[in-house]
Amino acid sequence: MSIPAAAAAHPEEPGPADAARAEQVTKAYGAGDTRVVALDAVDVQIRQGRFTAIMGPSGSGKSTLMHCLAGLDTVTSGRIWIGDTEISSLGDKQLTRLRRDRIGFVFQAFNLLPTLTAEENITLPGDIAGRRTDPDWLRQIVETLGLGDRLRHRPAELSGGQQQRVAVARALASRPQIIFADEPTGNLDSRSGTEVLGFLRDSVDQLGQTVVMVTHDPSAAAHADLVLFLADGRIVDRLADPTADAVLERMRRFDGSRTE
Ligand code: ADP
Repeated sequence: MSIPAAAAAHPEEPGPADAARAEQVTKAYGAGDTRVVALDAVDVQIRQGRFTAIMGPSGSGKSTLMHCLAGLDTVTSGRIWIGDTEISSLGDKQLTRLRRDRIGFVFQAFNLLPTLTAEENITLPGDIAGRRTDPDWLRQIVETLGLGDRLRHRPAELSGGQQQRVAVARALASRPQIIFADEPTGNLDSRSGTEVLGFLRDSVDQLGQTVVMVTHDPSAAAHADLVLFLADGRIVDRLADPTADAVLERMRRFDGSRTE
C-alpha cells in the first residue's frame, strides 16, 4: 500500500495508515521498592509499508515496547492498536488469534524446526492454522529472499544467514499486517546480517511489508526509514532516512561513550 504524501511528510501525526500505535503506554514490573518502569507514557505510530527501527541502550525498554506492541506482553496503562484493532483490551484467546493472523515475528534465534525442510518451515504456521499458503505469494517471497535452491534443505544444511532468511520468509508467508523483528542479526556475522537486513528492506520496498525492528546496532538501524530512540523507557528522539554515523552520533548523546 502506498503512503499518502501528507502522511509521509508528517510521519508522526496519527492517521489511517498506522500499522500499529501506542498511546501513553506505561509498563511497570514489580511493586514498591523493586518497581521498575520499563516504559513511561510512550506514544508511537508505526506507519504502514515502512521499516522502523527501535534503538536504545541496553535496558532502555526496546524489547518491552516491541512485546507490548505485538501483544506478547500486557501494558500497565495506556492503549495499543494493531491497525484499527485495540489490542490492549483483548482477552488471551482473541490476542492469540490476532498474533497468528496479523503479526509476523523474527527473533534473534531462528526458531526453525530441525526435522522440517526450509519450505515446510515457511508454510508451517499456515498449515497449523489450516490455511494453505498462496503458492504465487510463496514463490514471490522465495524469489525476493533468494531461497529458491534451498527449499528442500533442512536447517542444519543451511548457513545462519540462510536460516534467518527462512525465518523471514515464514514471517512473510501469512501476509501479516506487521512484522516484528527482535535483534534479527544478533546471531549472524556481519556479511550475513547485512544480507538479511537487505532482504527485510526488500520486503518493505518490493512486497509492501511493514517492519519494526529492535536493534542496538547503528548499521542495522541504518536500513530503516525511521529510527526511534528510547532511553529510560521514553522515546527521546527520532531520525528519518538514517545513516549509521548519524545513528551512532545520536546514541552517543543518550548513552555517553557506550554504543550498546
Ligand atoms: P532493552 O530491550 O532495551 O534492553 P528491556 O525492555 O528488556 O530493555 O528492559 C527495560 C527495563 O525493564 C530494564 O530495566 C529491565 O531490567 C526491566 N525488565 C524487563 N523485563 C522485566 C521483567 N520481566 N521483570 C522485571 N523487570 C524487567
